[in-house]
Amino acid sequence: MKVLVAVKRVIDYNVKVRVKADQSDVDLANVKMAMNPFCEIAVEEAVRLKEKGIASEIVVVSMGPKAAQEQIRTALALGADRGVLVEHEGEMDSLTVAKALKAIAEKEQPQLVILGKQSIDSDNNQTGQMLAALNGWSQGTFASEVVVEGDKVQVTREIDGGLRTVSLKLPAVITTDLRLNEPRYAALPKIMQAKRKPLEETTLSELGVTPKTSLTKVKVEPPAERQAGIKVSSVEELVDKLKNEAKVLS
Ligand code: AMP
Repeated sequence: MKVLVAVKRVIDYNVKVRVKADQSDVDLANVKMAMNPFCEIAVEEAVRLKEKGIASEIVVVSMGPKAAQEQIRTALALGADRGVLVEHEGEMDSLTVAKALKAIAEKEQPQLVILGKQSIDSDNNQTGQMLAALNGWSQGTFASEVVVEGDKVQVTREIDGGLRTVSLKLPAVITTDLRLNEPRYAALPKIMQAKRKPLEETTLSELGVTPKTSLTKVKVEPPAERQAGIKVSSVEELVDKLKNEAKVLS
């Protein structure tokens, strides 16, 4: 079974994000970039399927600037077999990404496409759902367990207040939640080997996809700064402040 995994290049989650002075966007100048954490979980799951003898080949796809090759190489070092970079400078909305993934899926004919549940930069949480809809495939979103059984895949989904298990007919789309697995680190020899693995480059126009967006980014604002805390000297003082300053007690 061939597995396609979509990985996105985003700001490293350890970086304190700065907003541009004109509030038009997040400042990406000299900022460390990395693979979206939910995509790392997607790669790990695909590699585990390969180790179990279920997946025969893992193809990793990323759409973005040339530098997104780094994230593809990371996925190759973690155990993926081949990479495809859809080179595109500038923003791409989820529908464009989903259409490009559909075009790649038509060519590659995977049985399973694994994506992260959301990108930590845009927080869209929609690409996997859009891809499933465009293909007319079943989808298991927010997966915390994946079990492939013949021509079906059983996905345990994290939903509000519990878990829901669904059985999907292959081919299917899965999006990963945090508890699905703990991604491994790439060992140095694997990083070296990954440099020799095939990485194909293409463009949206070669895939027959026209990038369009129906939304405009109006403004980006950082979260409000937290006020410094204070120490209170007694329970009475604490209760007084909760009542009269924070006004959370009456
Ligand atoms: P989103 O819908 O943007 O929150 O992203 C959900 C998932 O879609 C990500 O975790 C990736 O697996 C995939 N994805 C979104 N954008 C891209 C991209 N530019 N390149 C590759 N995969 C992407």
